[in-house]
Amino acid sequence: PILKARVRNHLELKTCRDIFEKRSLMDGLTGVANRHYFDQVFNQEWRRAIRNCNPLSIIFLDIDFFKRYNDCYGHLAGDECLRKVGMSLKDSLQRAGDLVARYGGEEFIIVLPLTSETDAVKVAERVRRNINALMVAHEMSEVSEYVTVSVGVATAIPDKDMVSASLIAKADEALYQAKKKGRNLVIVGEE
Ligand code: GH3
Ligand code: MG
Ligand code: MG
Repeated sequence: PILKARVRNHLELKTCRDIFEKRSLMDGLTGVANRHYFDQVFNQEWRRAIRNCNPLSIIFLDIDFFKRYNDCYGHLAGDECLRKVGMSLKDSLQRAGDLVARYGGEEFIIVLPLTSETDAVKVAERVRRNINALMVAHEMSEVSEYVTVSVGVATAIPDKDMVSASLIAKADEALYQAKKKGRNLVIVGEE
């Protein structure tokens, strides 16, 4: 019985630790990965892409007119919207290696290992369409009656002379262009 109790105790501790570790990698509001976990996975995939001479793609997205959404429907509704967007993003990904994370307030990032620019654009379009299809009412948006996202895509076949941050910067710049060109759009980053 003493042994049993010890085993049980050990298992309970282990479960606690697993849950803690999992939580520390998860965004508490949306349940997708957090920025910290994204950084780990992204850097690992970056190194792997260098070793294998494979393409690696990033999708950066930001909810359109989200400040107005909060102002109009309240912060709790804003939180609920973020959860719906997070779930939609998870559902939009198909491959086991794909990862979605919350990057900041209403910004999400997706890493697509072994994915060409053409394929990444297809995923980005699917992501954008699926969020439209949630049909979350957004009266104050200038681009739709529903919540939409602007999306930037960037792809690289990395080599050891490139810095991983440059790929994220490229996706961020593309996202900025998507906002400028009218929002609810996918734009691909240029060299
Ligand atoms: P744009 O279309 O240019 O992206 O405009 P925007 O209003 O979405 O962008 P802005 O950066 O002005 O506002 C972002 C808003 O996101 C402001 C902030 O209150 C809201 N936000 C950030 N994090 C959270 C959160 O965790 N919960 C809620 N409810 N709102 C959040
Ligand atoms: Mg933003
Ligand atoms: Mg926004």
